[in-house]
Amino acid sequence: MKKYSIDHKTFPHSAIIDGGGKDSRKEAAFETASKLFCVTGVGCGTCNQCVKIKAGSHPDFFYIDEDSLKVDQARSIIKNAYTKPSEADFKFFIIDNAENMRVEAQNALLKAIEEPQNAYFVFLCENHRALLQTINSRCQVFSLPSEGENIANKQIADMAASFAPAFAGELALTEFFVKASELPRNVFPDFIFMCKQETYKLILSQPHKRGQFLSIYDHFDKLSEELVYNPNLFTLSLSTAASVWEIYNKDI
Ligand SMILES: [Zn+2]
Repeated sequence: MKKYSIDHKTFPHSAIIDGGGKDSRKEAAFETASKLFCVTGVGCGTCNQCVKIKAGSHPDFFYIDEDSLKVDQARSIIKNAYTKPSEADFKFFIIDNAENMRVEAQNALLKAIEEPQNAYFVFLCENHRALLQTINSRCQVFSLPSEGENIANKQIADMAASFAPAFAGELALTEFFVKASELPRNVFPDFIFMCKQETYKLILSQPHKRGQFLSIYDHFDKLSEELVYNPNLFTLSLSTAASVWEIYNKDI
C-alpha cells in the first residue's frame, strides 16, 4: 500500500491532517515530526531523536490523544508551547481527535497557532470541516486518501498488469472492463488514466499496431468525457470493451 508522505521541509507551523484512518493520520504526523527532529533530517528511525519520538519520550514532542480536549488542557498546552524547548530548537504538538475539542479549547488554541513561535501544531481529525473556521483559516490542510481509495488504487495497479494480456481476445477484454466497472466511481478517472498509460506502452512495444493503439488512446480521452454524463459504469465499461476491441481489429 502506498505510504502517504508529507514534505517536512515546507511543513507549516499549523496544520490539519484529515482523511485516511486514525492510524494513518497518526503515522503521517509522527513521520513528519521524526523528519523534523531527526539528526540526519530524513527521519532515519535510528538516531536518538527518532528513537525518542517513537518511544514517546522526546521532551519537545507531545502527542495529545484526549476524547474531548477541554479549555484548561488547551491552556496548559499553550503554556508549554511558550516555554523553551529542551533538546531541539522547537516543540511539536500533535492533537488527535481534534474534531472533539471543545469550542472553548479551540478558541484558546487560536492564539497559540497564529502567533509566530518555535512550535508546531498538528490537528488530526476525520474531516477538517469539523474544526472551527478560524482554526481552518490558520492551518494548512493535508488530506490523506481514504482507506477505500487506497484499496481501489491497489486494485488499479494490479489491473495494469492484465491490460496488455486482455488483448488476447474479445472475452478477455470484456472481462477486464467488467472488473473495472466494480471500482468505486471516484477512482474510475484513475483507472482511465492507467489505461492510457498502458496503451502508450503498447504503442512502443507493438509498433505494427501503432495506428490502432493511437485510436484506442483517443478513445480513452472520450471515455473520460462520457464518464461525466453516463451514470452507469457497467454499461459504460461494456461499451468501452466493444469499441476498444473493434478499433484493435480495424485495418489502419
Ligand atoms: Zn533520525
